[in-house]
Amino acid sequence: MAESEKDWKSKLTPEQYRVLRKKGTELSFTGKLLHNKENGMYMCAGCGAELFSSDAKFDSGTGWPSFDSPANTRNIELKIDSTLGMSRTEIICKQCGGHLGHLFNDGPTKTGKRFCINSCSLEFKKNESGVGQMKGFMTGLEQATKKNTDFRKVLYTGKFSQLVLMCLAPGEEIGMEVHETHDQFFRFDEGVGKVFIDKNEYKVKDGDGVIVPAGAQHNVINVSKTSSLKLYTIYSPPEHKDKVLRHTKKEAEASEEHFDGKTSE
Ligand SMILES: [Zn+2]
Repeated sequence: MAESEKDWKSKLTPEQYRVLRKKGTELSFTGKLLHNKENGMYMCAGCGAELFSSDAKFDSGTGWPSFDSPANTRNIELKIDSTLGMSRTEIICKQCGGHLGHLFNDGPTKTGKRFCINSCSLEFKKNESGVGQMKGFMTGLEQATKKNTDFRKVLYTGKFSQLVLMCLAPGEEIGMEVHETHDQFFRFDEGVGKVFIDKNEYKVKDGDGVIVPAGAQHNVINVSKTSSLKLYTIYSPPEHKDKVLRHTKKEAEASEEHFDGKTSE
């Protein structure tokens, strides 16, 4: 994005210009998004790129909005910053080059990362519905994926899960893999294929769903010679699923229902 300094000055507030374009730092405990706890997406104030999900936000006590992981690593660039006599990792918006903040390795969550971001570098978009964060759906992502320029696109990364869109070219396969820590859910959207899970073979087509348990050896193959196989997949850690199951079982017990493992469909 090649905007001139003049364009940036008219587009941004003086404080945003100082931080985003001149690598400044806002005063701690002054940013309007510091204590924001609503569900939604934090985007670059310079260009609107999606940077951090509210799922990743935590209170670091530093006075700047802090996140444990980016929503989309393709929108984030990391650079060694040796100014002020310190060696720090600068976080930059990949799309517009705007300075966002710094990355530290003292985060309290599983990722161990603390993305320390200036509030004024961010704009917040509240989730209108449960699917609001999955905004990548009908954008150029799908087109690029269909053309197979990059068959795997991360659409959403949350604390407990990751949603990925994949598009396999005719005859293409993902390759045998095992995810030790995550269950994987496939939802097939277009085409015909085969899924192998621990040597069992399943034929799949549009609308089919498949669950691969953590630790299972699996592969997906597009069996068509002419059309692509499009699928959405969610990786979810089993401990998170267990939480949901426990919750559901408790609810079932409360209402004295007996769940026999069958669904009504
Ligand atoms: Zn940007």
